[in-house]
Amino acid sequence: MTDTLLPSIDPLPQERRLVTEIPGPRSRELMARRQEAVSAGVGGMMPVFTERASGGVLLDVDGNSLIDLGSGIAVTTVGNADRRVVERVQRQVADFTHTCFMVTPYSGYVEVCEALNRLTPGDFTKRSALFNSGAEAVENAVKIARAHTKRQAVVVFDHGYHGRTNLTMALTAKNMPYKQSFGPFAPEVYRMPMSYPFRDGPHSGAEVASWATTKMDKEIGGENIAAIIIEPIQGEGGFIVPAPGFLPALREYATQHGIVFVSDEIQTGFCRTGQWFASEHEGIVPDMITTAKGIAGGLPLAAVTGRAEIMDDVHVGGLGGTYGGNPIACAAALGAIEAMEEDDLNTRALQVGAILRDKLEMMAAANPAVGDIRGRGAMMAIELVQPGTLNPDPDLTGRVAKSAHAQGVITLTAGTYGNVLRFLPPLSISDDLLREGLDIVAAGF
Ligand SMILES: *Cc1c(COP(=O)(O)O)cnc(C)c1O
Repeated sequence: MTDTLLPSIDPLPQERRLVTEIPGPRSRELMARRQEAVSAGVGGMMPVFTERASGGVLLDVDGNSLIDLGSGIAVTTVGNADRRVVERVQRQVADFTHTCFMVTPYSGYVEVCEALNRLTPGDFTKRSALFNSGAEAVENAVKIARAHTKRQAVVVFDHGYHGRTNLTMALTAKNMPYKQSFGPFAPEVYRMPMSYPFRDGPHSGAEVASWATTKMDKEIGGENIAAIIIEPIQGEGGFIVPAPGFLPALREYATQHGIVFVSDEIQTGFCRTGQWFASEHEGIVPDMITTAKGIAGGLPLAAVTGRAEIMDDVHVGGLGGTYGGNPIACAAALGAIEAMEEDDLNTRALQVGAILRDKLEMMAAANPAVGDIRGRGAMMAIELVQPGTLNPDPDLTGRVAKSAHAQGVITLTAGTYGNVLRFLPPLSISDDLLREGLDIVAAGF
């Protein structure tokens, strides 16, 4: 490290410690300023302002140390301010901050693309392109698939989430809060039934896939479809893990009809589920993968990675953007990937997943409202219903989340029906802290 770098600061004690009520007075003061300065349209889960974060905790401006079970929505998979991310970012920010890769390139961008091409499933030649946000990556995946196939139709699924830009709003299933009053939406987007084992009754993954493929045949025509875009485990939709056989059947349909199969791994990617990418659990090899969130330890970066012949089938200049693959974000991604490999975070995600499953099973045994436990690795959720039915209970879900928040545990909700508690801890959390956080969630029922 050179003297241009900031001195390292003391590590944060890895403990839950409440010194004020939540939110404390300084957070409340900042919330009042936020209300005066920030658009009311920007949502908020917890009214607590952050001072520092690392490992499994977040220190707020009042000195409370909270347990983080959300990772800023599956972003800080390697933990906040991981040393390898911080060091590379500090070095890069002191060297240069921006040139625009399309003006004069730099090696970090190429290195991130090389890592993506190496780590994503499929042993064919690949190319990648970098962007700023998940939504931007998904939009570009659609552009590339359309240019390659010379077709227009895009297929997505019930409960799917792909972003908040105009095209990705059209791809996203849920109206409130993502789409309400923001139309008209982009055309040529078709939504198909999704395998949702908890709600599908006796129907198998293959059966639900056949509903989807029949609908594609009859309502669009396979030869008109540019891309099938699916999350291998749905994120915002409520951590829905499709039944075995569902994804392979769609993959097969895409192959038969020359459709680009796009796996949106923005939430599931980069060790979250115990594999580099969740597609691997089902043994499917996508033609294209979109990534963001966990890729760069918290800096804004996103990517499209795919078969070279598809990715190169776009005219020069057709892809890009001022900031896409910013050098600091690329440095962060290289640090995050280094941390994932060095610390074997896929194994860690499975360990975290085992603790999660254990605790969630205890919650289910004690509370008949827990209708389903699902997910993979460090991406697990429970769906809350009126006992013995499939009727969603979003009120109870909100109450349990609020009670955890008041006790200093950051938890997130999700789901089309708002009745899913989802757990996405940073993989840097300790076992004890994770167990403590989940016990506090359990106490909120
Ligand atoms: C978060 C998310 C997106 C959108 O990413 P942004 O960076 O918020 O634009 C797209 N797809 C999936 C599966 C996501 O979880």
